[in-house]
Amino acid sequence: MSGQEAQQAQQAQQAQPAQPQQVVSPAGAKFCSNCGAALAPGAKFCSECGTKVGG
Ligand SMILES: [Zn+2]
Repeated sequence: MSGQEAQQAQQAQQAQPAQPQQVVSPAGAKFCSNCGAALAPGAKFCSECGTKVGG
């Protein structure tokens, strides 16, 4: 067992930058500006919080 190798592996993981999660959304998809819920195409109001969306 080599503790040194384990330590190097741990450092390697920490060196890797966090990968930003890109939100893949279909064309025309909108999200509520209030709660961030996905809105149905053409929706006038958020189905989650009722905030008026679109325009
Ligand atoms: Zn909402």
